[in-house]
Amino acid sequence: MCALLSSNLGYPRIGENREWKKALEAFWAGKLEEGEFTQQIEAIRLNNLRVQQQKGIDLIPVGDFSLYDHVLDTATMFGIVPKRFPYEGGEVPLSTYYAMARGSQGATACEMTKWFNTNYHYIVPELQDVQPQLTINKPLQAYREAKLQLGIQGKPVLLGLFTFLKLAKGYQPAEIDQLISAFLPLYVRIVTELEEEGVEWLQIDEPILVQSLSDADISRVSSIIATLTAAAPKLKIVLQTYFDAVEHYQAISQLPVHVIGLDFVHGFELNWKNIQTYGFPENKLLGVGLVDGRNIWQSDLQTQLEFLDHLSAIVPYERMLLQPSSSLLHVPVSKRKETKLAPVLRDALAFAEEKLAELTILSKATQHGQDFVQLELDMNQTVITKLNASSYRNKPEVQLAVANLQQQPSTRNSDFASRRSLQAAKWQLPFLPTTTIGSFPQTTEVRNARKNWRSGEWTPAQYEAFIQEQISEWILLQEKLGLDVLVHGEFERTDMVEFFGEKLDGFAFTSNGWVQSYGSRCVKPPVIFGDVSFVQEMTVKETKYAQSLTSKPVKGMLTGPITILNWSFVRSDITREQVAYQIALALRQEVEALEQAGIEMIQVDEPALREGLPLKKKDWQAYLDWAVLAFRLSTSTVKDGTQIHTHMCYCEFHDIIDAIRALDADVISIETSRSHGELIHSFEEHVYDQGIGLGVYDIHSPRVPSVTEMVEMIDRALQVLEPELFWINPDCGLKTRGKQETISALEVMVEAAKRIRASR
Ligand code: GLN
Ligand code: ZN
Repeated sequence: MCALLSSNLGYPRIGENREWKKALEAFWAGKLEEGEFTQQIEAIRLNNLRVQQQKGIDLIPVGDFSLYDHVLDTATMFGIVPKRFPYEGGEVPLSTYYAMARGSQGATACEMTKWFNTNYHYIVPELQDVQPQLTINKPLQAYREAKLQLGIQGKPVLLGLFTFLKLAKGYQPAEIDQLISAFLPLYVRIVTELEEEGVEWLQIDEPILVQSLSDADISRVSSIIATLTAAAPKLKIVLQTYFDAVEHYQAISQLPVHVIGLDFVHGFELNWKNIQTYGFPENKLLGVGLVDGRNIWQSDLQTQLEFLDHLSAIVPYERMLLQPSSSLLHVPVSKRKETKLAPVLRDALAFAEEKLAELTILSKATQHGQDFVQLELDMNQTVITKLNASSYRNKPEVQLAVANLQQQPSTRNSDFASRRSLQAAKWQLPFLPTTTIGSFPQTTEVRNARKNWRSGEWTPAQYEAFIQEQISEWILLQEKLGLDVLVHGEFERTDMVEFFGEKLDGFAFTSNGWVQSYGSRCVKPPVIFGDVSFVQEMTVKETKYAQSLTSKPVKGMLTGPITILNWSFVRSDITREQVAYQIALALRQEVEALEQAGIEMIQVDEPALREGLPLKKKDWQAYLDWAVLAFRLSTSTVKDGTQIHTHMCYCEFHDIIDAIRALDADVISIETSRSHGELIHSFEEHVYDQGIGLGVYDIHSPRVPSVTEMVEMIDRALQVLEPELFWINPDCGLKTRGKQETISALEVMVEAAKRIRASR
């Protein structure tokens, strides 16, 4: 019989009822003593392990749990604490740990950024002038705890040195070898101590190996791995990669480790091709990441068993570990509570717990034969077939439209120059028109009103009247402020994706499908599970109402197809590209409805366009092509005189500027104020010659900048951009700001615009 093992790579920290979040927040608020907090956290951590044990996972990860973020854990394990935080060496106190994560009086938090292409954010280690030391052996601690408390011989998880360094900042590229020399002895100590403890398996995560690395980098990784293996020859090291296929397969597969872990979901094609072409070393195990760690759907177990069968011709079963494609950190905990979903949808879901069960089924099927789990396999096929055959996924009109996409208009009638003159003549806006990005403060009052309406305490009419009051109050305010293009304020929206998801067909909302986004913050992404179609007007009523109150133009406000896609869990039976087109065509109907209703400036926000970029640069163009097409499908059928705006919340543009230009928006507004210099520079090199608004103040801070500050910022931008095409706006929506500070900041903004107009 084959000794194939099932192995997990990481588990959600948050607990089935977000107990983890609640404990963290209570502790921060001073409502939990440190001792009590530590106890609660331990209970959550042990429970997570217990679940994996009960599901029959052979290799259970330990040490992947965190009090905030695993990259921060790695940094603090090595005593890496920026000078602005209190620290005197030794184990980093909890207060310092959280100060680094969240900021404290007098010390700004460490930067936070996206973990590869996920929606998880990690704390960026700062490595300038560091003298790393091993303050605790966290993997060892985690191993001991699991063994002592639950009798689990866990598989410690360690963030690999090379990925850790590549994700850190505060050093010059040339300094990397020095840093390796400083940290490697500490890694050596970790692995030596693990080996001495009798630990059998160690998972070293090196996801950076799926990105393009130079030959020099690959040899750095080789020497790191060689050093660790030499230090702990008995330890079975798993070199784990995920989120895409590895680059340099030949070199990596030869590294002296016991197991090479590959992602056979997100990097399937290339990883599989490499194995077929170059084989797989006979002295190693292969970690086969088959169960998708990034989505919420049941695996097609039959297809996966067929694949495993093919694979076993190259790597026999006894040399496989069956695993999820990545840590399960990126999926919700359990679908047990999703009782409100349509059964045909609910049945086809698999969250973390259910994914563990899948691993066990796969491993039983390969070890004891399929008959052994025939019932489970049949059920799996049934639920998948049922959902695929359901009316949700079979809307002929939607599918026909996407199948005949060439027939759908995706180009405006006229070029920008002609549109521009028509639009200019129509609105006669002043030089440097002022506007905002869409939302105004979502005060407690607004949130309470929505709660009342959702709970049934308020009638829909009551809620609607409340929203209208807000709109009219802010239309008045905007007129008083002297803004040139007004917005209705988005008071009726909780979230810019959820709002549209609730109104479009093809979306579902879970009750408890939370995933960690950063720290204690969790998000509950909508689920795109069926063909997406337009059902009813979504924004027309509020926008039209706003327009009825003013003679100034009111800009309609929609979330774009790519942002809706990238911020949702997406069905996997058709490509993301297809889903994007479906959303785009549905949104087009809304764009047209707005235009019909007399709204002739329409903003289609795409803040998530950039974050959808694939991990490998060579895949960027394909993604950008369909993303741009989706945007254009939504926005191309309007009249020449209708002005399409878009908005993006970032400023790294230089590498996707062609795509941005290809959107062919009449006006784009982008976030700039925190990295103005950089952005201006990128515009010096790459001309952008359609309407553009650079955010002139940072909306993430309550600080109200001075008029001179804004004037300077605008002046600098006007040196590289065509002044006649320039708009003045804040960085992003204002929904998280207070009312008074918003008004003050906009006053300053309008004043700055006036001053520059007068000086020209
Ligand atoms: N229109 C949205 C708002 O103002 C845009 C938000 C965003 O870009 N994230 O809130
Ligand atoms: Zn924004």
